[in-house]
Amino acid sequence: MSETFRVLALGGDHIGPEVVAAGLRVLRHVGQREGIAFEVEEDMLGGASWDAHGTFCTDAVLEKARQADAVLVGAVGGPEWDGIVINGPITETDGLTRLRIEMDVYNALRPARAWPALHHRTPFRPEIVDGADLMVVRENSGGIYYGEPRGRETLPDGEERAFEISEYRTSEIERIARCAFEVAKGRRGRVASLDKSNVMESGKLWRETVTRIHRDEYRDIDLQHVLMDYALFAVACRPRDFDVLLADNLFGDLISDMVGAVAGSLGMLPSATLPCAAAPGSRVRGGVFEPTHGTAPDISGKGIANPMATILTVAMMFDYAFARSDLARDIESAVDVVLNAGVLTPDLGGTATTDAVTDAVIAAL
Ligand code: NAD
Ligand code: MN
Repeated sequence: MSETFRVLALGGDHIGPEVVAAGLRVLRHVGQREGIAFEVEEDMLGGASWDAHGTFCTDAVLEKARQADAVLVGAVGGPEWDGIVINGPITETDGLTRLRIEMDVYNALRPARAWPALHHRTPFRPEIVDGADLMVVRENSGGIYYGEPRGRETLPDGEERAFEISEYRTSEIERIARCAFEVAKGRRGRVASLDKSNVMESGKLWRETVTRIHRDEYRDIDLQHVLMDYALFAVACRPRDFDVLLADNLFGDLISDMVGAVAGSLGMLPSATLPCAAAPGSRVRGGVFEPTHGTAPDISGKGIANPMATILTVAMMFDYAFARSDLARDIESAVDVVLNAGVLTPDLGGTATTDAVTDAVIAAL
């Protein structure tokens, strides 16, 4: 029990600090219960950092993130900072983007499952959604969000033209494909790779590369390729038929919110973004762990944000950063108990506060 895990907590903006406080309470509780030492340092990211330092992510925060075993992030952004125009590298435009790119966390694992107590909150009939358990593996450091060139220009005829490019190199696809196959090993062994190889060059390279890595290294995994547009329909109609969903940065972003419909709320979706492939039980350093949702300015400051996504994110820290999957399962079980007891925030149809839900999770642990 001599090991100490260093956690950097970056609340961010609006509900970010509210849900991170809840997540840290659960982390500390489990640490005390199990005799695991956590050294938690808190700092700013996003708009909060802009207001204090004139940058969305300071060099000091980046350096602390590099030294940490795990970084817990709330969410960043809000209307206050939307008007700020940065004419510089993309890493200067958004604190989370800087953190993701400079830490090279490309493997975004975003699970979504159907919680029995929340079936009635989903748009699905129980027999469609019951048992659904998905893992989106999103490539998170390349593709159209970061491709160069990008920009905006005024054309000779006076019209504005804005553009970005969707680009992948083979090695980027190889490494994220391995991430999906590795995580599938510990699940039901099935990967659906999503692309638009019918119309996109980057999609053709994506499909070729995923096919080759599967053939050469992961023949025991069941791989299917699905065109992205049809995938949205197919996953929505038959969520139980899918296991791991592998996608590039843009498509992975889209489908990871869509699968929130299976979980009942965006406030139920955790994520882990890692610098390497990993399966539960790993001891990865330098992962960025965050709820999938944003800063919810419409409900911030009221103490009613759903902390479950962040609490489940803390569970992912136990899976991927602290090599204690047993404790990750304990936290998930406690979440299930609390949902079944009907202790729910307003996004799930209840009246409980963030603190009340967090108290209930800790009591169930
Ligand atoms: P959002 O996820 O913040 O909110 C969408 C809806 O879901 C809102 O009605 C909100 O109240 C609700 N919601 C989200 N999380 C919730 C929670 N934990 N509990 C209860 N309800 C919750 O998305 P948005 O409204 O599109 O974006 C708001 C801001 O967040 C924008 O500035 C956006 O750029 C930013 N954002 C940040 C991240 C991130 O930091 N990772 C991700 C997405 C959006
Ligand atoms: Mn998103």
